[in-house]
Order: sequence, then C-alpha cells, then structure tokens
Amino acid sequence: MCGIIGYIGKKNAVPLVIEGIKKLEYRGYDSVGFAVKTEQGIIIKKGVGKVDEVLSKLDFSEISGNTAVAHSRWATHGSVTQENAHPQMSSKGDIVVVHNGIIENYQALKQDLTNKGCTFTSETDTEVIPNLIQNEMDSGKEYIESVKSALKKLEGSYALLILNKNNNILIGARKESPLVVGFTEDGWFFASDIPSFLEHTKKVIYLHDGDLVIANDVFKIYNLDTGLEVKRKIATVEWDAEQAKKGVFEHFMMKEISEQAAIISNAVTQDMSKIKNVAETIKKARGVYFIACGSSYNACLSASYKFAKLAKVHVNVALASEFENYKDFLTPESLIIAVSQSGETADVLSAVKAAKEKKSRIISIINVMGSSLVRESDEFIMQNAGPEICVLATKSYTSQLVILTLLAYALADKLDYGVSKIKETVNHIYYLTSENTRNYIKDLAERLRYANHIYSIGRGLQYPTALEAALKIKEVSYIHAEGFAGGELKHGTIAMIEHGTPCIVFTSRETEKQIISNALELKARGAYIIGIGPNNNEVFDFFIKVREAEEANSICQIIPIQILAYQLAILRGCDPDYPKNLAKVVTVL
Ligand code: GLU
Repeated sequence: MCGIIGYIGKKNAVPLVIEGIKKLEYRGYDSVGFAVKTEQGIIIKKGVGKVDEVLSKLDFSEISGNTAVAHSRWATHGSVTQENAHPQMSSKGDIVVVHNGIIENYQALKQDLTNKGCTFTSETDTEVIPNLIQNEMDSGKEYIESVKSALKKLEGSYALLILNKNNNILIGARKESPLVVGFTEDGWFFASDIPSFLEHTKKVIYLHDGDLVIANDVFKIYNLDTGLEVKRKIATVEWDAEQAKKGVFEHFMMKEISEQAAIISNAVTQDMSKIKNVAETIKKARGVYFIACGSSYNACLSASYKFAKLAKVHVNVALASEFENYKDFLTPESLIIAVSQSGETADVLSAVKAAKEKKSRIISIINVMGSSLVRESDEFIMQNAGPEICVLATKSYTSQLVILTLLAYALADKLDYGVSKIKETVNHIYYLTSENTRNYIKDLAERLRYANHIYSIGRGLQYPTALEAALKIKEVSYIHAEGFAGGELKHGTIAMIEHGTPCIVFTSRETEKQIISNALELKARGAYIIGIGPNNNEVFDFFIKVREAEEANSICQIIPIQILAYQLAILRGCDPDYPKNLAKVVTVL
C-alpha cells in the first residue's frame, strides 16, 4: 500500500528517486526513506511524515550514486516510527530492501531467523526479507540464488527493490503488488506506478507476478518458479507527463475535479464498438456480478439501477471484500464486471481470483493500463481518465459512471440516445466546475465547516449519489457524513437530526415529489436543507442547480459535492490530496 521507486543507470539516482517518490506520495504518507549505493556503501536516510517534511530535515547535498531506492510508507505492520520506516536492512547490514505489501508468514520467519542469531530493530513484516536473503548468503549461496530462495519462502504480497552493499545490482520482484519498469537511454526505473518516472520515459514493462528482475550493466527478468529467463513486451504509455502535474491548481483534487468535462467529452466521442461488444456479453451471461470497493462500488450501485430501468437487466452488486459469500452461485456462464481505478485493489483481485476458479468470465473497467486486473480479465474497458493522483476518486468515479451508463444504454439498444444525453451534460459540467460555482459552493462550505454530522439523501438513481456524497465529505474533511435512501433515514437515523444539522437532498424530475416529502420531514426536525437538482423548492435553505440529465444525473450531481468536500477540507485545515489514514491504491486485504 505504499510507493516504491528505484533507479540504476548512468545518472545520479538521488534527484531521480526524490522527484519520483514525491509523485508516489499519494499511495502512502506515513514515513519516507531513501537508500543510495555509494562508494562508501549504502547510505540510508529516512523519517516520519510526508515527503517534503522529511526532505527538509535530510541532507543529500554530499550524496550521489548511480543506484538508489525510495519508499513512502502506509503502515500495515508496526506503528508509524523512524525504526519502522523503510528501507529495512539486514542485521549484518549488507542487504537493504524497500517493500510494498504484506508478508503473511513473517512471524514464523522472524522467529526462525531470531533463533539463528538475527536481531530485529523494527516491528515491520518487511525486515524479515533482507535478513532471509542474508541468511541464505551465510549458508554459502551466491547472492542472486540467495534472493531467489529467500523470496520463495515468503507468503503474502510484495513489490520489492533490493540492494546489496557489496555489488551494484538493483533487484526488483513482484507478487500481487504493482511494479513497473521504465526504460531510458541511460538506465532503468522501477516503480509502483508510471507517473513517478513519466518525465523520463514512456517505455515501460508491466511486470508479472513471480517476476524477478536483475539490473546492473544488463537487464534480465526471471520467473521465480521456473528459474528461467522470461521476455516481457515493452509498451508505450499514452499518458503525458503534464497530466500528472498540478498545473495552475493548488491541489490535485481540484485539478482532477476540473478535468471532468473534458474527460466525459472524450469518453462519448470514442469508438463505441467495445461498449457494444461488452453489452452483448452481458446479454448472454447467466448471472452478472459487479464487484468493486469504495467509490467504484457506488458507481456500480448506480449502474445497477440504470441496467434495471433502461434495459430490464438484473445485476448483482457486491463489495469486493464480501464477494466470497456469493462464490457458490458462480458458474462458467456467470459474468463478473470488476471495477477499479488502479486495477490493483487487493479485495477486487481476490474476488476475481475466486470467480476464475469457477471459470466465470471476467470483464474489468480500469483506469491504469497494464495493471494486475487487466491481466486477470478476459476483456477490459479503459476509463481514459488520465492519471488520478489525489487519493480521493473524483474524475475516475465519473468516468466509471460514463462507461457504465453507456453500457446500460447499449443494453437497451439506445446507445445513440445515451451518447447524446451524456454529451449534453458536458457544457453544464464546465459550468459546475467554473470559478463562479466554486465560489458559490465555498459560501456553503463556510456554513458547514463546524458541523459534526452531515447527512445526504436521494431516491432511485440519487441514492448511490447520496452514498458517494457522504464518502467524499468524510474522507477529506473528516466530518462524519452518511448517505441514505430517501425513505430510509426516518427508520432510525432521523433521531440524530437537530436544529441546524446539514442534510443534502438530491432531487430529479422523477423523484422530486417523494424526496421533497423526505426533505420536509427533516426540516420539521430543524435540519438545514441543501437541495441539489433541477428545481429549487421552498424547503431548501441552500440550493445548487444541476440541470436534469435523466440517467446522466448521477454524473453531474456529484460534482458540486466533490467541490464542497474540497472546500470543507481547505477550511478545516486538511490536506485534500492526502487525507489521513488513507492510501490511493488499497493493495491489502
Ligand atoms: N508491510 C510493510 C510495512 O508495514 C509495507 C507497507 C507498505 O506497503 O507500505 O512496513
């Protein structure tokens, strides 16, 4: 769940990994660390906090070397301390490792190594890895063989970069955590994702599980199970380095919110053959399951309403982490539609694996090319949202909604109508993300900044929007927020409504009558009502107009709340790009 980057080549690796780790910080920001191979050995520098904070305390001015690695941690084993920050070193000091993932059998390995005389200075699972390698070397094996046999003893997940004080080899290895190689004329990058080295190259290899890469003067990939050398295709990335920068914006979150009109416009002008093919596959399937987590789950829930309403197609929607419970219903005719921005979400990958065991067909909707989910899928649809750096899903959520809405229209044989409906929203989304609207929503944020709770309600298609709205608000502003179906809040939670409690009410032409009744029930208990939808109403204390867009309402109506969540975060002194305790890519189960 962290970011790792390494470089080996002709250039000074230090500035390269420093710049790279800054771009990977979104994946974890508990602590940061660096290891540089120099003439004098391996120099390690690390500290607790975000990259810039830690860097301001570290001095790299005297340090240079052609090989270096860096790590930005999201702690899974051991608290957030200097000792637990990576890189982790073997007790003899020869082997240094940065690791993304979890070693599940670390306790047994640690006990065994302790019995053999190793001493441990951290609480991490990671520290067993350099010690295992060292231990294999102590038993007489040469270095690469030691790495291979050590890795074979690990259970769990890892993307690893390994340095040895006594040679100039950078080793990379992956199993169920992402690792990509970037090729430049002067050397190789290894990283958790592409934007971290995109300035230097667009030529990449997406490593597979079980790949072990040895880079020094030459570059070779071995399969850990067979021990044989393997060849992997070099792909060219379509993303542009500029897309991964903040540009004129102060935060990635607002930049990415503002990109939505352009992304949606591109999505509806793309070749629709893929959408049509997938729609045909859905028609033939016997049992369709959407699986996803977080915002992607909300997008799937929204899609299930559209599939039902437009195309009369029933789909099951499951949280990936709960999918296990449906396993017995799966057959080779079942279809799984797995939705994940990164394509690396551990819960989704594990659900997909369970479905593959039953030989079900897998289609994924993803934003990151070459991700593990792509490899596990029979077919995939790209979201084409460009790199999403902010930890919160904004443009990736709406781009998922666009694809899922197009699929629903295609299933209903109304794809052209669907395309024109979504196209109509583009100008309105420009308006919704304009400075005028942002300032208008800022006034609302001023009123809500001290709230302890915010509730959101919607009926039908607006219900998943209400869930997503609450998720956005709480994950970035840390105000407790909950979303409900309009009819549901009164079955318990209405007890929480007090004078001034903010309640966001999503309306649409179709649901207006009933949802306004629900809003009145809340108002009668003193709630402060914020209306979002096509028509103002006297029950609203604050109103944000979002034009009626039928099935595309879900795409437009979340945007004011994304902006509100951002403004609340700013006013409450929270960093919108790096919410506490979160990481962008959830690679742990
Ligand atoms: N499990 C390791 C730790 O807690 C790595 C976590 C990560 O992927 O950041 O240090």
